[in-house]
Amino acid sequence: VIELRDVDKHYGDLHVLKNINLEVDKGEVLVIIGPSGSGKSTLCRTINRLETIDSGQILIEGKPLPQEGKELAAMRAELGMVFQQFNLFAHMSILDNVTIGPIDVLGVPKEKAQAEAMELLKRVGVAEQASKVPAQLSGGQQQRVAIARSLAMHPKAMLFDEPTSALDPEMINEVLDVMVELARQGMTMIVVTHEMSFARRVADRVVFMADGQIVEEGAPDEFFDHPKSERAKEFLESIS
Ligand code: ATP
Ligand code: MG
Repeated sequence: VIELRDVDKHYGDLHVLKNINLEVDKGEVLVIIGPSGSGKSTLCRTINRLETIDSGQILIEGKPLPQEGKELAAMRAELGMVFQQFNLFAHMSILDNVTIGPIDVLGVPKEKAQAEAMELLKRVGVAEQASKVPAQLSGGQQQRVAIARSLAMHPKAMLFDEPTSALDPEMINEVLDVMVELARQGMTMIVVTHEMSFARRVADRVVFMADGQIVEEGAPDEFFDHPKSERAKEFLESIS
């Protein structure tokens, strides 16, 4: 579904992505881990073109990433993105947060969008909160709404950039549980996370990044139990 070929990117003098090659297949859950500043967020942001790249290619379902206009908007709608910060519209109800994309972008009739939104809110366990505004919800609840909002666009794949790292510990699992369920249902996912037990349990493949490079990748058990590179060993020791 998603393919990166020889992707390079600089921020001024900083070579933030170095010759990244990566393929994510349909239904695959790819977990990206690595030290702070290694380029994980930048990589995610290049995939839906929140960031440009200097060279290389990004293909979505075999087609080059559109550069602008309607085609780019359509492609973005097909890639759900969930960030560390929940990014809900503060002045809108939870229900409106979930229906605005389908109504405005996909042209779904309001009634239908609302019915579907309620189903999604039920699925992530916050249906009772539908008429509230984001500030009335806990962080974990807001993040689950953010996931429902992405799902309402029927994405082909979901990108998660540290979706639980702004949450209080007791709320982390309620968000991870929703992600586990999504993975189980066959959603194609790229997940940047520091939650190693989640990575071990859910990832089909783990990619370890350091200094803008993919240093190592492999099946989760193999990576966590037998990391090959010194850099990955160091990192795993530092977080355990
Ligand atoms: P973290 O685990 O802390 O989220 P990360 O792996 O997501 O880190 P990035 O956010 O991708 O790392 O940043 C990679 C490098 O690029 C860092 O050195 C960062 O300071 C730098 N960087 C990120 N965004 C910009 C920007 N807009 N302009 C200049 N430098 C940037
Ligand atoms: Mg980051």
